Amino acid sequence: MRVLGIETSCDETAVALVADGRLLGHQLATQVDMHALFGGVVPEIASREHLRVLPRLYRELLRETGLAMEDIDAVAVARGPGLLGSLLVGVSFAKGLCLASGARLVGVNHLWAHLLAPGLEGELRFPALGLLVSGGHTHTYLVRSPADFELLGRTLDDAAGEAFDKTAKIMNFPYPGGRYIDDLAREAEPDTTLFPRPYIDNPTLDFSFSGLKTAVANHVAAHPDLVFETMADADAVAALPADRRAALARVCASFNWSVADTLRIKVERALKEVGKVESLIVAGGVAANTGVREAMRGVAEAHGLELTLPSLSLCTDNGAMVAYAGWELARAGYGHGLDLEAIPRGRIVPLDWERAD
Ligand code: ATP
Ligand code: MG
Ligand code: FE
Repeated sequence: MRVLGIETSCDETAVALVADGRLLGHQLATQVDMHALFGGVVPEIASREHLRVLPRLYRELLRETGLAMEDIDAVAVARGPGLLGSLLVGVSFAKGLCLASGARLVGVNHLWAHLLAPGLEGELRFPALGLLVSGGHTHTYLVRSPADFELLGRTLDDAAGEAFDKTAKIMNFPYPGGRYIDDLAREAEPDTTLFPRPYIDNPTLDFSFSGLKTAVANHVAAHPDLVFETMADADAVAALPADRRAALARVCASFNWSVADTLRIKVERALKEVGKVESLIVAGGVAANTGVREAMRGVAEAHGLELTLPSLSLCTDNGAMVAYAGWELARAGYGHGLDLEAIPRGRIVPLDWERAD
């Protein structure tokens, strides 16, 4: 079965083709430089860019794979969560293709797609504990199958990626700044007493990261010479004198540790709650983080679980994960009618699916 995947939920426009669980081709256009000028994603610009770029990416994908729309059995589209205007561009495009070709339409939960993405690189083992750490979400799930996710815990305020980006902004790194913090963090040992591990002294599986950026803001206010005075870029980071670089690296390493260890504690707690699982799947942009990867490797080892981490290009938004999730759902018999709705936020549950066969 060949499935086209369409991703337009935020600031990446992406398409991909998956056949029988394997990736045949993918195309991606990022808008990140455009939004960086504003220090965050501007929804109206994002929608307009998806509208402009998506048809070209679709044509390039067909050229790359040598396939025509008639060869495609299903069109999977990220139907939420995300920016409403952006989602509507992808959902409408997918509906147009299905209407014209008779392909099956499959609405995909963008967050589930993040967690299923590593299925393109190896077999997923269920039941799994899923940790999604992305720009907009921090969720833990019990994943029983590609069509059965139970939400266990979530952030009450900032997502892990948001915590990185807001903290990076305090330090005057460009948006999105998670990568800059991580790169510098690798050069130093963390001071584990510098920042708190937020919201761990309670029995819940939920997260709260907003206090962590305040802790960094307070630290920076007390040590203003630590951070860049104006917005830095990669060249400015490279030009830092060694002593300032070492001091900043220590702050970054300490922040990395606080986030990673908080995630570790909550994942350990979730594992205790759900009982036996076969694997731990960690996905989303923050799964690219060195500290997070290391912490999760430790958890998996301690619990005798297989650790499933997507390669870096599958961590951030892409079309391949949507195509793959759609392929899993389509082969399990799921699909949607042409009245499929975009769901910008809130829960997207299997109950609002139709079985197509
Ligand atoms: P969502 O899926 O929740 O709507 P998103 O798809 O936009 O959000 P992703 O693309 O998965 O989010 O992740 C982007 C986030 O990952 C950004 O916040 C970015 O700073 C962060 N990020 C990327 N690389 C790293 C890294 N090495 N360390 C920490 N954070 C990182
Ligand atoms: Mg993005
Ligand atoms: Fe995403």
